[in-house]
Amino acid sequence: LNLPDRERSVLLERLGTEIFDLLVIGGGITGVGIARDAALRGLKVALVDKADFAAGTSSKSSKLVHGGLRYLEHAKFRLVFEGTHERAVLGRVAPHLVRPLEFLMPTYRGDPWGLFALDVGLWLYDALSKFSSPRIHRTLRKKRTLQLEPSLRSDDLTGGILYYDSMTSDARLTIENMLDARRLGATVLNYVIVAGLLRRSDRVVGAELRDVLDERAPVFPIRARVVVNAAGPWSDSVRRLADDPPILAVTKGVHLVVDRPRLPITHAIVMRQDRRVIFCIPWERRTVIGTTDTYYDGNFEEVSADSSDVRYLLEVVNRYFPNAKLIASDVLATWAGLRPLIRPQARAATASDISREHVILSRPGVVTIAGGKLTTYRRIAAEVVDEVGEQLHGISRSSTKDRPLPGGSGLKSWMLTKLIDELQPAVDPDVAAHLVNTYGVRAASVTSRIAADLVLGARLDPELPHLLAEVDVAVLEESAECLDDVLERRVPLLLLARDQGLDASEQVAARMATLLGWSEARRQAELEKYRTVVALSRRFQRS
Ligand SMILES: Cc1cc2nc3c(=O)[nH]c(=O)nc-3n(C[C@H](O)[C@H](O)[C@H](O)COP(=O)(O)OP(=O)(O)OC[C@H]3O[C@@H](n4cnc5c(N)ncnc54)[C@H](O)[C@@H]3O)c2cc1C
Repeated sequence: LNLPDRERSVLLERLGTEIFDLLVIGGGITGVGIARDAALRGLKVALVDKADFAAGTSSKSSKLVHGGLRYLEHAKFRLVFEGTHERAVLGRVAPHLVRPLEFLMPTYRGDPWGLFALDVGLWLYDALSKFSSPRIHRTLRKKRTLQLEPSLRSDDLTGGILYYDSMTSDARLTIENMLDARRLGATVLNYVIVAGLLRRSDRVVGAELRDVLDERAPVFPIRARVVVNAAGPWSDSVRRLADDPPILAVTKGVHLVVDRPRLPITHAIVMRQDRRVIFCIPWERRTVIGTTDTYYDGNFEEVSADSSDVRYLLEVVNRYFPNAKLIASDVLATWAGLRPLIRPQARAATASDISREHVILSRPGVVTIAGGKLTTYRRIAAEVVDEVGEQLHGISRSSTKDRPLPGGSGLKSWMLTKLIDELQPAVDPDVAAHLVNTYGVRAASVTSRIAADLVLGARLDPELPHLLAEVDVAVLEESAECLDDVLERRVPLLLLARDQGLDASEQVAARMATLLGWSEARRQAELEKYRTVVALSRRFQRS
């Protein structure tokens, strides 16, 4: 047995034999945040996910850590305050992953909100964030707006507002929380499904688990004093296991990726359509456009962008950037995710009208957390663990606010440039920037692997800075089990490479086969599965 296999079987054994204070169902950002918080408070924690960490909504977001400017329109001041506060906390504990990004909101004659009203709103936004942005917002005249973003439509343009929010990698943020939960002693496993709940009279006392990677593996029990349902959009199916009623209204959100030269923006652009906000976001060598918000009742395992989603988003972009003339064939990749929103009492007018606030529901032995945002996961996790503490009759206070994530250990945002410089000339400048902005201080683990074996310094795609050594890190340090765990969430060529990583997939699969001892049949099956993932991302071409 190689190392990861051995580790996995030890962890599986532990799940089946020990008694835990807390079992968390779901390894999205909410679940791993809860596991980390609880382990830091001294609880004995287990977490399982039926797929990979962040395979659900937590790799499908707009990747913004933000107060949510649009919530001001609905007078949701607390939501904005919490979001901007968390933006500052996360920028401190993970400065490599949560970085400020400048947003430009152009204003046009006939817009619902003019420049003056927006200026007032942004003063409020800055104030609610306690002026923690790198700069307070600025109001621009038309000429300056066009100097900053020359490809914007100039007809009827009245000016623009510049302000800051933050951008992250949602999947990486999830993985770093998972790693820290493990460091703190939690037993955390992907590809283990909760197939049932164990009950003693009215109280839930554990769950039935099954190893998804081993077809012949039997269902086995895990015992836990409290179970947290953090299954995101799947929360209702877990609630069904406890005979609890459904609470969710699920909506779909789609993003498109186009090549940066096709939409050469240098700021995140805030666009308005149908009382909604849609962003164009510069992302590495690409531009991301999103998102949609429509009710969804299809198959949760096969969510994808369809042609009407793509048409809708391209229409909005082409209205703001008429010379771009984007068409469906410009779309290199798409991703689609499900928002686990709380079903409103009365049916909301549109999907976008449903509140983004979370709820925590508690009954003996089970706590359900549903709703919420990526941005506020740490705060939500603390609230959930407080609730778990109630059931356990006492617990210490959350202290995740002051604990860096693994890549942010000892790191301050001003050190990032120095760290990037230090990696050169051993690696190219773009590679150095990518490694530091992805792994923070853990970048040293990638470079030391290359120092030990120069072959690992090869790029996976000639246009991109991702290296073969990162596959080793993904498998040996970050529990990647399947090919798409690497190519979709840890080294996301699926979204960044022109061919969505199809070319590199052979090399990555070969490396994973060596590290994980895959048979030839398993290697082929992984490649086939990855082609299905790529096809899902391109399904809009056929719908
Ligand atoms: C399009 C879109 C854009 C968004 N943009 C932003 C944004 O920019 N900023 C922001 O702050 N928020 C944003 N959000 C919201 C944010 O992404 C979500 O709130 C967050 O990711 C939810 O995480 P979660 O852990 O609750 O759910 P998930 O990430 O879906 O995790 C749930 C996990 O539970 C697992 N699971 C389910 N059933 C079982 C079972 N029976 N056994 C074991 N495991 C199980 C699943 O495999 C899954 O991994 C966006 C959401 C969407 C959809």
